[in-house]
Amino acid sequence: MSEKLLEEQKLSNYIDGKYVDGKTFRSVINPATGESIVEVPLSGKDSVDAAVDSAKKAQKEWALVPAPMRAEILYKIGALMKERKERLAQLLTMENGKVIEEGRGEVQEGIDMAFYMAGEGRRLFGQTTPAELNNKFAMSVRAPVGVVGIITPWNFPIAIASWKSFPAIIAGNAVVWKPATETPIMAHEMTKIYEEAGLPKGVINVVYGSGGDVGDAMVHHDGIKLISFTGSNDTGRNIASECGRQLKKVSLEMGGKNAVIVMDDADIELAVEGILWSAFGTSGQRCTACSRVIVHEDVKEQLEKRILEEMKGLTIGDGLDEENKVGPIINKAGLDKIKKYIEIGKGEGARLLEGGYEITGGKHEKGYYFAPTLFTDATKDMRISKEEIFGPVVSLISVKSFEEAIEVNNGVTYGLSSSIFTADVNRVFKAQRDLDTGIVYVNAGTTGAEIHLPFGGTKGTGNGHRDSGVQALDVFTEWKAVYVDYSGKLQRAQIDN
Ligand code: NAP
Repeated sequence: MSEKLLEEQKLSNYIDGKYVDGKTFRSVINPATGESIVEVPLSGKDSVDAAVDSAKKAQKEWALVPAPMRAEILYKIGALMKERKERLAQLLTMENGKVIEEGRGEVQEGIDMAFYMAGEGRRLFGQTTPAELNNKFAMSVRAPVGVVGIITPWNFPIAIASWKSFPAIIAGNAVVWKPATETPIMAHEMTKIYEEAGLPKGVINVVYGSGGDVGDAMVHHDGIKLISFTGSNDTGRNIASECGRQLKKVSLEMGGKNAVIVMDDADIELAVEGILWSAFGTSGQRCTACSRVIVHEDVKEQLEKRILEEMKGLTIGDGLDEENKVGPIINKAGLDKIKKYIEIGKGEGARLLEGGYEITGGKHEKGYYFAPTLFTDATKDMRISKEEIFGPVVSLISVKSFEEAIEVNNGVTYGLSSSIFTADVNRVFKAQRDLDTGIVYVNAGTTGAEIHLPFGGTKGTGNGHRDSGVQALDVFTEWKAVYVDYSGKLQRAQIDN
């Protein structure tokens, strides 16, 4: 398939169930080829205002639709995504660059989330509990928050939007969604699916435009009661400050500096596979990407040698070609940031074993490609060991013990994902207890989350909320405590019992 997959030459905002033309546009570039795929509107505050007005009206009625009936629509959304999985995956690879196998995996994540959250339509459990007074009934129920704003990054344009929008709508909220400017095509494809599935107009509105214009207008809009954001720490911190000022609910999922720990008793071949998949999949542009390998000194040489051998087999190129294992970097700014960190690493005294350069010429000429890169002899205090690079760059740090490995893993400001390769069951249980991250893998790399478990991180990665899993419902609902007194008289809690 090719760019012809998309008939439209320009995308339109989706507000109140209608496609609304934009005024100014920018090109969406395929990072593998440098070619323009489609034009995306650069909207502003007026579009956000219109989307919020529509969402406000829609939310009142949507909240009164019984949740199992809301679920029927979500099941249809999931079924349509499944039917169009290949089309979605190809378009995703074109706009984002990840190799097609990963594109299919990401779309599947969205499908899984649709079916899982549709199931929640018949649960959305609250609690019943005894009241402390006679002839009194007590329960807690989930209530929708209202109009919610969803701001998503370019690296998982359909999965992250699904993690946020599906729990939002099953719980009776209406959504204003701002996709990343680099990757709006998944949002456009989803608007067609919402329509066909019969989602009432206004329940999800999509507004395209820059973070500084559309995102900022959403954060400042007093009609939006919650912002659910995934992206970089700088942006997230600014959003959180503004939401704090307004006392607006805010859920943040941000960066990571994830490590694979390889102990002296590890299955080295399995560890190598896990490291390659986690470090170079999506060209290292995953929030859960492995960018540190913390290795026991006794197996360092062996591991280093095997990683290097396997790296030579990584084919780099357009993700639509099934042969390629590593796709491009999202854009020039992403490339420049990676190049900057290569120089920082060299300057800090880490030894560059492989890669460290942009790939140009021939079939790579027009895209943004960077060679998978391995540093060794890094130390825990180097910037390349502490800061998010967001590219196919991994650094080996040698340690003398299990305890030191845990300490090095935890010695960063982020807390998203971690992994340990070991055959020792005692170490496994100690590690899952002591690794200070929201996700821990044992004998697997740092990536591979499943949608029915909570996704998110500790420390600088987030602010205590989780995407996906049943925990996502805590973001998109308010708890309401309900007391029904059927005694026919005034009963005072804490006094009349
Ligand atoms: P980003 O630059 O922070 O952008 C994320 C989203 O925020 C985009 O839609 C962006 O719009 C918007 N935005 C930018 N400035 C804004 C503002 N002032 N107000 C409101 N919205 C604004 O992050 P990114 O480069 O797209 O994504 C990469 C980062 O996301 C990495 O740090 C990665 O680790 C993190 N991430 C975290 C998770 C997780 O679950 N923990 C998952 C995936 C990615 P534009 O597109 O117009 O810039």
